[in-house]
Amino acid sequence: MTTQSPPERLRVAFQNVGCKLNLYEIEALKTGFDQRGYQIVPFGDQADIYVVNTCTVTGSGDADSRKVVRRARRANPAATVVATGCYAQHRPRELEEIGANLVVGNSQKASLVDHLEAHLSGASMPQTPSPQEPRTTNFLQIEGTVEQGRTRGTLQIQDGCDEHCTYCIIPQVRGPGVSRPAAETLEQAHRMVQSGYRELALTGVHTGSYGSDLAQKDGLVHLLKELEKIDGLERIRLNSLEPGSVSDALIHHVAASSKFCRHFHIPLQSGDDQTLKRMGRHYSRAYYAERIEKIATLIPDCAVGADVMVGFPGERQEHFDNTYALIGDLPMTYLHVFPFSLRTATPAERLQDHLSNQVKQERSRRLIALGQRKRLEFHQSFVGRRLQVLVEDRRDKATGLRVGLSDNYIKVVFEGGKTLPNHFAVASITRAREDLVFGETLTQ
Ligand code: SF4
Repeated sequence: MTTQSPPERLRVAFQNVGCKLNLYEIEALKTGFDQRGYQIVPFGDQADIYVVNTCTVTGSGDADSRKVVRRARRANPAATVVATGCYAQHRPRELEEIGANLVVGNSQKASLVDHLEAHLSGASMPQTPSPQEPRTTNFLQIEGTVEQGRTRGTLQIQDGCDEHCTYCIIPQVRGPGVSRPAAETLEQAHRMVQSGYRELALTGVHTGSYGSDLAQKDGLVHLLKELEKIDGLERIRLNSLEPGSVSDALIHHVAASSKFCRHFHIPLQSGDDQTLKRMGRHYSRAYYAERIEKIATLIPDCAVGADVMVGFPGERQEHFDNTYALIGDLPMTYLHVFPFSLRTATPAERLQDHLSNQVKQERSRRLIALGQRKRLEFHQSFVGRRLQVLVEDRRDKATGLRVGLSDNYIKVVFEGGKTLPNHFAVASITRAREDLVFGETLTQ
């Protein structure tokens, strides 16, 4: 494949849709284009090439992906619009019909620039995306720096999933689970720290399964221990962990670690055993509750969040009430609530008793309110106490104040005075809201 610069400095704009894994990938794509001599411009600017990393996890992921592809096409009718990611893998023709010139599947993302250059020169590369081969074999690399002002980054350690929950399309569009080799992951982490990151959030599709395909027992804990040795990497966070991956070894390791953030995000989806079974989720409400209680006991002030799905086919009122009661009783600190969204070609298509949008919305509304109440209570428990924050290179839009994030996932806003971006500061918390807390900085 060519490694030469494009003949003229073509402008390329990127837009991401979807999850934190897509965020990592879009940053990696940017650095790849930068290294080949392209000029990276904001998505709102006129560009010669638009790259859209799409999402298909829900119907709104599809709709947002289509919207961005159409927007790119409208912004410059003469541009080359490239679509990649999960929606592109699942329904390439739909994106071509609305304006994508080139669709690159998940397994070929790592050579996206080569595909683009072949397309621009009229040459042909293997047909993409291939429905048989969504699996990642080459992980995208973040090479160097494109943007300034970095503090917190996302590091991909894994891709794909072997679980096959009945509502989920992701194993079909990302393929079976695959772990990024430890040496490559550590090298990537080193490079990201050298380019300025102080905090890395480890991410994947089923991050907790890390190491299972490498025949490595406790692979994730082993990787964490190695990452913690990296000088300059001050904080390590895990983005999302399936309940079955939250082992005693992991909880004990996090409790004892000085670098690991006091933060777990553990999808619950339902707190009702019958619903969990129909979802194809292999744990019970009692197991989930025991894991959360253990975290809260061993790691005081830990942020504990969950994804919760409402309105799964056949979810009766008493099933929903079980979910609501479980979350109410547990020391959860925030929720991400999703109404069930039918994905074609998933087993949920064959289930009976699909619920009306009205019921789904009503249940969503109740759970969102519960999550907000719990988050406010968590935030209020820090008034009069101190939190160490990593100061970001931006101001809060609504208040105009400086912003920092605590290790336990609390957004702190403060006057800031002499605080420097990408440094740690200690804030004394004076007031709490559901979405953030106010602080006065004491030291940096
Ligand atoms: S664990 Fe279940 S919900 Fe998560 S990606 Fe795998 S199949 Fe989808």
